[in-house]
Amino acid sequence: MLSYQHAYHAGNLADLHKHALLASMLDYLTAKPKPLSYLETHAGRGLYDLSGPESARTGEAAAGITRALAQDWLPENHPLRQALEQIRALHGPHAYPGSPLIARHFLRPEDEAHLAELHPAEHAALARVAGFAHLHRQDGFQMANALCPPTPRRGLLLIDPSYEVKADYDSVPRHIARLARKWNVGVIALWYPLLLDGRQRPMVQALLRGHPEALLSEVRFPPARPGHGMVGSGMVVINPPYGLEEEAGRLGGVFAAL
Ligand code: SAM
Repeated sequence: MLSYQHAYHAGNLADLHKHALLASMLDYLTAKPKPLSYLETHAGRGLYDLSGPESARTGEAAAGITRALAQDWLPENHPLRQALEQIRALHGPHAYPGSPLIARHFLRPEDEAHLAELHPAEHAALARVAGFAHLHRQDGFQMANALCPPTPRRGLLLIDPSYEVKADYDSVPRHIARLARKWNVGVIALWYPLLLDGRQRPMVQALLRGHPEALLSEVRFPPARPGHGMVGSGMVVINPPYGLEEEAGRLGGVFAAL
């Protein structure tokens, strides 16, 4: 039974970190005139309304993307900012794109997108905005395993689990090892929370043991509420595109100053 709903957290500090890295990668990958595949194992609903009750209840977007824009954490020409501006021009000033619609901003007609989302309501909402992609209402790792290596061979796989099932922390390195073997040229990006109890650490260590050349970007921030266990955001990227290290360093500086 899935209960996680990203609407409560859309546009928070973790999304800002993850989406800034994602947009930077896609901006670079789509600058070359060669088609690519974009795969997502845990897509969410694609489009969020930051004026809705979920966002108001947690205040996470106010402390995240809203503050980031007010304080210019993202330079004017930042790929995430450009994607956000396009989404707001289309869907209004309180819209916030999830990763599928950030990808949509960069993808070209010759690119192929496959998105998995298991939750029935999230999947139905995604279907309303993601006509550009092949949608899969199935486990995201099953989808990725069936598609890898995808056609076209160039491309990016985003893995963004909700970690509702605590066994995810054990199983993710095994899934990624298999996918990286099958798709050795693919960019594989995993997002994870930095938790106060350090539960994510063995997973990250296992990934880095298997892929010592991977890029690791971790940023820390104050918890959204007193007692909240998430104190930062992390991403491991296998085969990181050019320029990602620089963006990870820039984000590290922004978050360190919070
Ligand atoms: N990637 C999205 C973004 O950045 O906008 C957010 C995704 S949210 C963190 C995780 C999503 O994964 C939820 O919508 C949840 O319903 C979905 N989910 C959970 N388990 C899944 C599974 N095994 N396969 C596919 N989707 C799953």
